[in-house]
Amino acid sequence: MHFHIITLFPEVCEPYTNSSILGRAQKTEKGKGAKSRGKKISVSYYNPRDFSTNKHKKVDDRPYGGGPGMVMQAEPVLKAWQKAVGRKKDQKRIKTLVMGPRGKKFETKMAKDLVKKYDHLVGSSGRYEGIDTRVQKALKAEEISIGDYVLTGGELPALAIVDSTARQVPGVLGEFTSLEEERISSNEMYTRPETIEWKKKKLKVPKVFTSGNHAEIDKKRAR
Ligand code: SAH
Repeated sequence: MHFHIITLFPEVCEPYTNSSILGRAQKTEKGKGAKSRGKKISVSYYNPRDFSTNKHKKVDDRPYGGGPGMVMQAEPVLKAWQKAVGRKKDQKRIKTLVMGPRGKKFETKMAKDLVKKYDHLVGSSGRYEGIDTRVQKALKAEEISIGDYVLTGGELPALAIVDSTARQVPGVLGEFTSLEEERISSNEMYTRPETIEWKKKKLKVPKVFTSGNHAEIDKKRAR
């Protein structure tokens, strides 16, 4: 799956997608047999500022109808989209999302559906008061929210969506076989050392986890 993020702040997002599991999933790994892995995902960035025709590279303007703040102009965002996926042959395999606190709530089911139905996912991040609504109309994009709170920009929402969708792409988690979402319900987990000290108290790993009795461990985790 190829992710395309349209943002005025790619430098904020790149370190995140280049690190850890998402970073690894963008590389080919050489190794013997099953250890060699192809690229599982790609992540590309497009800055609307690079597509501004204004001599000061301006990308925002005052809202029609008045009101506070500034609105991101449609054209630089549309041009960024065009650069990202405009020439792809199979436009049916492209899904475009615009980040917005009033949008449809993002959840795991959506991440799974996106992986099944599309090869390219374009996420457009707003700043200021948001992006000119014509972008959503022109691109037949869906507005997606990551929760009932308002952030100063769409970068964190776009990253959350890329992250959560990427881990549904087969092979991205690799040896991390913890994809089954029901495992989220197991909120108890421990690792070495078996005893830690905090404010003069000893905090031990509950016995059942060190017992080696997997039936009991699973029972405990399922709670
Ligand atoms: N005035 C706007 C809010 C702008 S917030 C309104 O009332 O709708 C600025 C940008 O941050 C938005 O364009 C959007 O891209 C992003 N954003 C903020 N909160 C978000 C959320 N919960 N989910 C998705 N995107 C969000």
